[in-house]
Amino acid sequence: MINTVTGPIQPSQLGKTLIHEHIQFGYPGFQGDQTIGKWDREKAMDEIRPHLEGAKANGVQSIVDATPNECGRDASFLKEVAEEFGIQIICSTGFYYEGEGGTAYYKFRSAFTDIVEEIFEMMMQEITVGIGDTGVKAGVIKLATSKDSITDYEKAFFTAGARVAIATNTPIITHTQEGTMGPDQAKLLTELGVNPNRIMIGHMGGNMDIDYHLATFKYGVRIAFDRCGLQMIGGMPMDSERIDLFSRLVKKGFGDRLHLSHDFILHMLGRPIPQVPELEAVLANYHLGNIFEHIIPGLLKTGISMDQINQVLLDNPRSLFE
Ligand SMILES: [Zn+2]
Repeated sequence: MINTVTGPIQPSQLGKTLIHEHIQFGYPGFQGDQTIGKWDREKAMDEIRPHLEGAKANGVQSIVDATPNECGRDASFLKEVAEEFGIQIICSTGFYYEGEGGTAYYKFRSAFTDIVEEIFEMMMQEITVGIGDTGVKAGVIKLATSKDSITDYEKAFFTAGARVAIATNTPIITHTQEGTMGPDQAKLLTELGVNPNRIMIGHMGGNMDIDYHLATFKYGVRIAFDRCGLQMIGGMPMDSERIDLFSRLVKKGFGDRLHLSHDFILHMLGRPIPQVPELEAVLANYHLGNIFEHIIPGLLKTGISMDQINQVLLDNPRSLFE
């Protein structure tokens, strides 16, 4: 069974799934700007509405919300969104990478206690009992690493998360930073004993070196090109390059190990992002329709079949949980 925010479902009920998106996301610190950047439920719903209606029109039935706990994950609001739009949402338990996460809490505690044990307890409870008193259970474990390193802080989450994944058979989805540490994450998690079929290494479309991908696949894990539409910012590759590499990996026989998503944020917490014309041009394809409007047609042109695309969007999410 899979924990969605509205209750358990069978993997066969997932349907077409976007495997890494954010209904809401805030960089830790947004909680300190509530005087001006106050959350408004109706405004958030209005912003979310067209995106989810568009996704549903494209046949999307399920969304994995990859928002870490300290980045504004709101289990009861996710439940309301799932009910309002008739879409299945699976939420995460986990913390963000050291550079952009809310690190002070567990760093402070680490002076007195074994934080691996505390993180383990937290994730176990969020998956088996519920998040806070919402009754909503997390359905995936979210882990993240820095550029070019897995810090000691991040290792504590990997160690705890691996134990939880093994104990509960819950999938792990990850964040890699700027196209680095994919193989290292796969190595660490499989060495900790996690079933590679339950591991999806994320943001792999940030690195266009096929050897980096093959080195990650060596561990039997899955790979996600889950930032489709996020191009150029911070040296990110173009979607056209991603389509080409994705197609090559499918043709090499990894069609059952690949995932697609956008890492799109439907509603940003805190103050709205200022409108910068240059940024808007760069982000023109960063939305929940990009895979259907641009990525799939691009893949078809490279000789990938609709069956292979359906495998990625339908069968692979199911087998990640099955
Ligand atoms: Zn994300």
